[in-house]
Amino acid sequence: MGAENCIFCKIASGQIPSKKVYDDHVCMAFHDLTPQAPTHILIIPRRHVDSLDAADSSQKQMLGHLLMTAAEIARDQAFAEDGYRVVINTNSAGGQTVFHLHVHLLAGRQFVFPPG
Ligand code: AMP
Ligand code: ZN
Repeated sequence: MGAENCIFCKIASGQIPSKKVYDDHVCMAFHDLTPQAPTHILIIPRRHVDSLDAADSSQKQMLGHLLMTAAEIARDQAFAEDGYRVVINTNSAGGQTVFHLHVHLLAGRQFVFPPG
């Protein structure tokens, strides 16, 4: 898997439209096309990485940045106090379907654990 024909690389470059909610030099965030909760946002690194499993130690800062961005969006959109869930599906058994690393930020309903 690589950056060629990667749908999230195309969203990051603007080739494919998205409902953007946040943008900086490291990452961008946009609404999921098939929301699994009243709020369902995806946060992706601008630079292609297949998955969390494919990330290396040079990407520690980017990984921290994705999580800090999720928390910031939750505060900005005023659902931090109610609560939210952050998910990184990884590889096949983890339920990953798009192989460009992404953080799901879900809110607006009660979540159960363990997830399905
Ligand atoms: P995952 O199953 O963890 O790989 O998540 C991939 C997510 O990407 C799913 O929740 C899809 O609904 C979402 N998705 C796929 N294509 C698009 C798109 N063009 N714009 C927004 N979200 C998308
Ligand atoms: Zn990509």
